[in-house]
Amino acid sequence: MADLFAETTVFKALDRTLHYLVPAEMGGQAAVGKRVIVPLGRSESLGLIVALQETPPLLHNGLVCRPIKAVVDAAPIVPAELLELCQWVSSYYFYPLVEVFKTALPSGIHNSPSIRFRITAAGREVAKSWEEAPDLLQLLVQRESVSLAQLKEIPLSPAKVREIMRRQESQGHIERCFDWGPSPLRPKVVKSLRLLDAEAAQAMGDNENLRALVNHLQQARGRAVPLRDLRKNIRNLTYWARKLAEQGVVAVDCGKELRQSDFAQEMVVSSPPFLTAEQSAIFEEVDPYLEERRFQPFLIHGVTGSGKTEIYMSLLERALSLGLGALVLVPEIALSTQVEALFRQRFGQQLAVWHSGLTSGARYDQWREILTGARKVILGVRSAVFMPVTNLGVIIVDEEHDGSYKQEDRLRYHARDVALMRAQMLGIPIVLGSATPSVQSYYHAEKRRYKGFCLERRILNRPLPQLQLVDMRRESADGRVLSAALQRALADTLKNGEQAMLFLNRRGFASFQLCHRCGHVLQCRHCSVSLTYHQKEGALRCHYCGWQCGVQQQCPVCGQMSMILHGYGTERIEEEVRRRLPEAVIVRIDRDTVSGPAAMAGCLNAIRSCRGNVLIGTQMIAKGHDFPNITLVGIVNADTALQIGDYRSGETTVQTLMQVAGRTGRGDKPGRVILQTYNPEHYTIKAVMHMQYGVFCRQELESRNALQYPPFTRLVKFMVTAQDEGRTQAAATQLAILARQTAQEFRLGSKPVAILGPTPAPLAKLKGRYRWQLFAKAWTNQDLQEFIGVVLAAAKRSKELRQVQLSVDRDPITTL
Ligand code: ADP
Ligand code: ZN
Repeated sequence: MADLFAETTVFKALDRTLHYLVPAEMGGQAAVGKRVIVPLGRSESLGLIVALQETPPLLHNGLVCRPIKAVVDAAPIVPAELLELCQWVSSYYFYPLVEVFKTALPSGIHNSPSIRFRITAAGREVAKSWEEAPDLLQLLVQRESVSLAQLKEIPLSPAKVREIMRRQESQGHIERCFDWGPSPLRPKVVKSLRLLDAEAAQAMGDNENLRALVNHLQQARGRAVPLRDLRKNIRNLTYWARKLAEQGVVAVDCGKELRQSDFAQEMVVSSPPFLTAEQSAIFEEVDPYLEERRFQPFLIHGVTGSGKTEIYMSLLERALSLGLGALVLVPEIALSTQVEALFRQRFGQQLAVWHSGLTSGARYDQWREILTGARKVILGVRSAVFMPVTNLGVIIVDEEHDGSYKQEDRLRYHARDVALMRAQMLGIPIVLGSATPSVQSYYHAEKRRYKGFCLERRILNRPLPQLQLVDMRRESADGRVLSAALQRALADTLKNGEQAMLFLNRRGFASFQLCHRCGHVLQCRHCSVSLTYHQKEGALRCHYCGWQCGVQQQCPVCGQMSMILHGYGTERIEEEVRRRLPEAVIVRIDRDTVSGPAAMAGCLNAIRSCRGNVLIGTQMIAKGHDFPNITLVGIVNADTALQIGDYRSGETTVQTLMQVAGRTGRGDKPGRVILQTYNPEHYTIKAVMHMQYGVFCRQELESRNALQYPPFTRLVKFMVTAQDEGRTQAAATQLAILARQTAQEFRLGSKPVAILGPTPAPLAKLKGRYRWQLFAKAWTNQDLQEFIGVVLAAAKRSKELRQVQLSVDRDPITTL
């Protein structure tokens, strides 16, 4: 039989694959997508086979392919289709394949196992005549396997132990085995007690705790009771459980428990409604593509409450009835809302949920269930786009415009774009939905690359909210935070027993501390951003790196006692409301008050069950939540994002404000929105006031066309960072020279590329590192792809650039 060679990504080595020989005895087990243990230098590493071939790879002179040491998986953990996707991601985003796997696979799966030793059958046979190191022998004979740490405890010098081990191993008396270590990969075991012999139990004495335990078990009438349930009521449980087990009076059952998401919201169960005519028209359009398995992107532009989610669910049911799996992506925040409960109610045990609030154990269990096909509908955030769904038939990306789909560090991928590629590779339909589609998707729908649908009305003709603008330039000093109109509306709402929501995209109490003499603003020591004042801690804090210091009286620049606090955040709003409306029961949601999904669920439940009546928050409350009793939304400062000099800041402002406005009037009562602004004439504010998102998109596209910004061009951002300022700038300058040379060559080949920069990033220093950036713009994807490749290769040869960190951000969503 011909030799077989495996091309393998190696988790310990970065950016390239290595080739190994598949030993004849492993030939049957080796397969693409399985993990293997391979030799790497003098140690070993875990790897994943990405290709198998019979022709030997070309190696440098004198090198030979070393053999794989072991095949780890019984079945591939990365199906062929997903492997192809990961390879595309790696090349499109210029990121090593191994790192893509680290994003795509649950953590723990790429950890190399720790090495253990065990005695072989041959070793046991000669054990009697084994005279050296009796302690070592005893350890090996007694234990199933022995770790390196345990070997260290043997009263011999480590060198001596190593020498003996090596010799015994070469003689085949001991062998290595692997411990996969961290618990996420081990199933969670639930221990339970089952009473076998009630009489014997009674006879064991009359200790109070023992009595209580036996009583509990008797009440279960032969069923097993989990230890964790008993623990609440019985003291010394571990002791008594062991005693009873030793006497054979109880049996100890060990069951595996599936760990899953449990932050679902309280929800009233109801049966699915019949689709309206508008909803079923969309369903009927998508359905043939599902059935025939054909690639086609769809875009549903539907105002909040227009019934998009119902359409998704009908499509999922259809996919299941065809024996297909489905993937639903949602923004992180949306999952802490009722969405999970809604899907669980509809899809029960078929549903897997994937978000950052899961423990790593729960993630692993969910992922396994998806891999084996036990769960067919996956509801998840960004990285769920990589889930190994069996027989994937349709992908849905809800709130497709949402910024959280873009990962902003390491692998800078956009989950919606990866989802589009996956759908195209598989030849299946993909449905993008949003109340405020990205300008880019809107453009594709206009150009008929996507099939676009519009849902302009809410279900049951619930009215859209009424908007009222408050020009803050006209407010008296007293109303600078909450205008008179907003204060009045709040009071009315509470009087009617309804709920209100106040939105402000900034947390903390004051935005910054400033010297009113010289204008100096206190900045973070490690980042080029101003410090935010937090009243509760009485401290100024950096929102980027967490550095904090006390409030200053004296200006560090001019020396005057002239420092004042300026601007306001959610903490301040909370105080204002408390002062003006004592009857308000406030729930505040921002990153200072809510630490994780569980806390978030708690806060949201407080609003849903009407234990609170004023919800104050940052963008954490802007999306997805469906609160029928909220009839007033106050947008405290609509201008927070406008000043940012980003080509997309208009788009994100309109999207956020319209999302927030959509939070009201979701129940039977009509809703009302009060929007406070200092820029009433700004085109984004006008678009929101008229709730005309389509009009805004067309305006925005016109100006982007004039400036040749995406979607009319493709952008890439190169970012150079280092701790030394001069070095960062020198490297950025060198990068710009390389880029301009390359662009010159490209132009000669009729592949125009424009270079912008280099400039210090708007956030010029972050966590102690200086940042410079350079943009390149091309008119086709292929040109840009090729261009980046050439520039990166040149950068590898540059001395200046080798001393700094260089990252590539393909299709950056901000120019900051
Ligand atoms: P969206 O996802 O567009 O915000 P949803 O699908 O959540 O909208 O629908 C908004 C509300 O209307 C929900 O409470 C939902 O249960 C209800 N709804 C959706 N479709 C129908 C329908 N065909 N008949 C009755 N109620 C519906
Ligand atoms: Zn900082």
